[in-house]
Amino acid sequence: MALRLPIYMDYNATTPVDPRVLEEMLPYFTEKFGNAASKSHAFGWTAEEAVNVGRERVAKLIGAQSATEVVITSGATESDNLAIKGVAEYLQDKGKHIITTTIEHKAVLDTCKRLEKQGWQVTYVPVGKEGLVDPDDIRKAMTDQTVLVSVMLANNEVGTVQPLEEIGKLTSERGILFHTDAVQGLGKVPFDVNATNADLVSISAHKMYGPKGVGALWVRRKPRRVRLVAQMDGGGHERGMRSGTLNVPGVVGLGKAAELAMLEGKDEAARALKMRERLRTLIMDGLDQVFLNGSLDRRLPGNLNLSFAFVEGEAIMMAIKDVAVSSGSACTSASLEPSYVLKAMGVGDELAHSSIRFGIGRFTTDEEVEYVGRLVVEKISGLREMSPLYEMYKEGVDLKSVQWAAH
Ligand SMILES: *Cc1c(COP(=O)(O)O)cnc(C)c1O
Repeated sequence: MALRLPIYMDYNATTPVDPRVLEEMLPYFTEKFGNAASKSHAFGWTAEEAVNVGRERVAKLIGAQSATEVVITSGATESDNLAIKGVAEYLQDKGKHIITTTIEHKAVLDTCKRLEKQGWQVTYVPVGKEGLVDPDDIRKAMTDQTVLVSVMLANNEVGTVQPLEEIGKLTSERGILFHTDAVQGLGKVPFDVNATNADLVSISAHKMYGPKGVGALWVRRKPRRVRLVAQMDGGGHERGMRSGTLNVPGVVGLGKAAELAMLEGKDEAARALKMRERLRTLIMDGLDQVFLNGSLDRRLPGNLNLSFAFVEGEAIMMAIKDVAVSSGSACTSASLEPSYVLKAMGVGDELAHSSIRFGIGRFTTDEEVEYVGRLVVEKISGLREMSPLYEMYKEGVDLKSVQWAAH
């Protein structure tokens, strides 16, 4: 098969909808268009039934008992907001302290910042240079005022997989609620709400081959019933936790995506890991001064985050513009700040600015991996030929003084 350009290698940012997911969604746009909240006729019942199948599939994927624990949202940004603000508001008389980490998604970090402005205390537990949280640091941060711990399953930039079972042990011992943003890990690494003692789990469809704009917050009911205050007022849908007419085709898609992740996730992860390792080998054998960001062992199978000393991430992206990747120096905001995740891991500004995230997924082919690996080596060699710093390095000049120290 001929290679088609551009090549998508940014599966941590979003994923295409699997054709099997789309196929199940389609009837719910047209002939089965009912409102799932319409209790008085067959159109409504059909929609409600489909939504419940979706919930069940989501529950199954995370090892949960009951589909009624699945609260549908517009995506994980909303799920993170609802979990943290909802629990904080409900438990504000019990305590006003939350523990999270420095490498959470902005949906968690910015939510915590908002709560700080409103009088809550938030501890941002740092990570080690491999991008991993030490459960003991979580334990030490716990106080009598702590009501919630929020730690992600896997990081979206560096793919590190956090020790949630250890953390969940600590929270359950102390009677503290445990929220996890599981978006990046679902269907890629094992996750189970009971093994981790999780109380709240954020899920997004579009990171696992479902549609954008739909997700879920799983809220535990048994053996302890987790309560939260709704953040949106309206018809009292979703057991009073999230009002709004359900996106029925979206929920159908979310459910099908969850089912496929459950059935095929393990094989897919093995395949992605093989391709990821092939890509890493191609690049690291072909270039010197390349650094892996994040742990190699505790890592999402399809994630490869590398820093290429002596070249800017932006320049690399330009040079390989037929390959869709992202950079730790990409100006997601107006600022030119390098990735806060890499910074939190102690990566210096220069190496953070030279980082590239490759995301491999369901539709990546071996051919694409070979092409990208060789292209990266060729283009970065070319860029470095024009770099006086790289030349100095090759000549053995000590570059520590200009802060290009390898770490
Ligand atoms: C993408 C992502 C989100 C946001 O999910 P949306 O459904 O796009 O709002 C939250 N957390 C993590 C870890 C993500 O990767």
